[in-house]
Amino acid sequence: MKIPTPISWQIANQRHPKLVSGSSKKILDQVRNDGLVIGVLALQGDFLEHILTLERLGVSAKEVKLPRDLENIDGLIMPGGESTTMAKLLDAFELREPLKIKIQEGLPVWGTCAGMILLAKKLTQDKPIPLGLMDIEVNRNAFGRQIDSFEVDLKIKSLGEKTLHATFIRAPWIVSAGPEIEILSKLEDGTIVAAKEKNMLATSFHPELTSDTRMHEYFISVIKNAIK
Ligand code: GLN
Repeated sequence: MKIPTPISWQIANQRHPKLVSGSSKKILDQVRNDGLVIGVLALQGDFLEHILTLERLGVSAKEVKLPRDLENIDGLIMPGGESTTMAKLLDAFELREPLKIKIQEGLPVWGTCAGMILLAKKLTQDKPIPLGLMDIEVNRNAFGRQIDSFEVDLKIKSLGEKTLHATFIRAPWIVSAGPEIEILSKLEDGTIVAAKEKNMLATSFHPELTSDTRMHEYFISVIKNAIK
């Protein structure tokens, strides 16, 4: 089955800068020799944009499609895309259980958009069946349809004062969060759009579609703390 790329992703991809900016270069120098390998779940969705961003930061990225790909990775990104399709493919490739176990054992993981849906303990909808790991309830397509996609400058707790330009594409939001959840960002109306629980990070939006790499750098710092 061929899943068409949503039009706004195509637009965002055209804008995706290929060049390393001054500040990214500094970070690149800092992390180049760390030897980190970050897996990117590559079943469906915009995994390539995450891989390109990681490579710009000097981190090795590894596509994860099969259970054996989970070996020798320091962290994992679950990208945006279509969570129902990803969940079907997780089952088809027998990846669901080994992935769950790795994350329960402490593998740092970051779910963006559809990835966040998959991480959740509970969804407002019946489908898909999520991995059920992060103590959040998530509402899929909460902002509306493709046409209701939007961009906004967001303040994010772990990134300091400077806002991040965030892209929301048929995005989910977090309806409720358990006591262990650290809320990292809310929209002006109070909607929760980024959160962290131990080794798990979740964002409703897509930092891989812009040139600002700070969210990826933050995830890299979470990984570094985990392996210290
Ligand atoms: N609406 C999609 C889903 O339910 C997620 C959209 C995205 O990842 N940009 O899976």
